[in-house]
Amino acid sequence: MTTLFKNIKELIQVRDKQIDFVAGAEMKILPTIKNAFLVVENGLISDYGKMDDCPNAEFDTVVDATGKMILPSWCDSHTHIVYAGNREGEFVDRINGLSYEDIANNGGGILNSAKKLQETSEDDLYNQSKTRLEEVIQLGTGAVEIKSGYGLTADAELKMLRVIKRLKAAYPIEIKATFLGAHAVPSNYKNNKAGYLKMLIDDVMPKISSENLAEYVDIFCEKGYFSVEDTELILVAGKKHGLTPKIHVNQFNAIGGVQVGVKYNALSVDHLEIMRDEDIAALKNTKTMPVALPSCSYFLSIPYTPARKMIDAGLPLALATDYNPGSTPSGNMNFVISTACIKMKITPEEAINAATINGAYAMGLEQQVGSITKGKLANFILTKPINSYGFIPYSFGNHHIEKVYLKGLEVE
Ligand SMILES: [Zn+2]
Repeated sequence: MTTLFKNIKELIQVRDKQIDFVAGAEMKILPTIKNAFLVVENGLISDYGKMDDCPNAEFDTVVDATGKMILPSWCDSHTHIVYAGNREGEFVDRINGLSYEDIANNGGGILNSAKKLQETSEDDLYNQSKTRLEEVIQLGTGAVEIKSGYGLTADAELKMLRVIKRLKAAYPIEIKATFLGAHAVPSNYKNNKAGYLKMLIDDVMPKISSENLAEYVDIFCEKGYFSVEDTELILVAGKKHGLTPKIHVNQFNAIGGVQVGVKYNALSVDHLEIMRDEDIAALKNTKTMPVALPSCSYFLSIPYTPARKMIDAGLPLALATDYNPGSTPSGNMNFVISTACIKMKITPEEAINAATINGAYAMGLEQQVGSITKGKLANFILTKPINSYGFIPYSFGNHHIEKVYLKGLEVE
């Protein structure tokens, strides 16, 4: 099965050589080919170049992309799209003046989502979640990480992870699973956080590794949730079960979580709305990817990750949605890159690098997706006719995608 895309106005994020990620000043460079062709063979990118060099061969399908652009699918390395119901009521509570913390203290927030999820059957949870997955695919996402963390009992956490496993088997999008049992302390362990962590480590982690339910382990390292010591405990135990760390840190307070992430070679540290100079310094020359979630800042009206300062200090950056019912009920990566440009003062080149190759790295998928490179999966976006790639973040809230392709096939 071969497909030729010809007369592509601009082929974006072309990397002849496989790279892991881009950092610092390199993030300003987005390599492209104008007036290009692209060949897909059996789901993989097999050739590309200038139209002058377009192969004169027979193809099963030929797509004329005159006036349109092709770029790699978005790589969304941080989501919570497996959840039950929604939290529209809290949305109104916040409009009326309650804070995220007030809502959590009133039994809302994560505990509210956990209660709903515990009462939802696995099939029902699967059906609710697949709708969201299909929606983000239509919005151009071609690789996604999904976390547990709304179960907060052994059974409900495993239920979430089994749903993620079923989604992986049923859809052509690349999916990675993360065990986030330590998302909040459930009410039945209110005065026994240590007991809850012990249960996650002794009862849940062995089942995760025996059923092969997750690649990553995560924890909400934050005042009022889990401490730096709790984080170390979970990361060390996760590693013993083959789970690589990815952590929620520095969302509301900087308490040393970034340093713990680096110490245990976390693949990513996510949120980072509050960054001290020592947190930026700790991430320099490491393999840990900082991940910013600007639509969460937008929705909660909290500070944005100081991305400009971090990139100028030489760090890499990835962008993700944080799609979840409480703080970001949206999985739109197009909006994320717009918001990153507008609110965090990063350029379209930096934002697109952050949302493709760097996002792929934050999921351990940099060999498979995130750039137009021979041998990578043919997961990409065909835009509507647009002037330049900068138009995508500039024209925020509008829809510029004509078609999305996963493994070379058009998604209907
Ligand atoms: Zn999150």
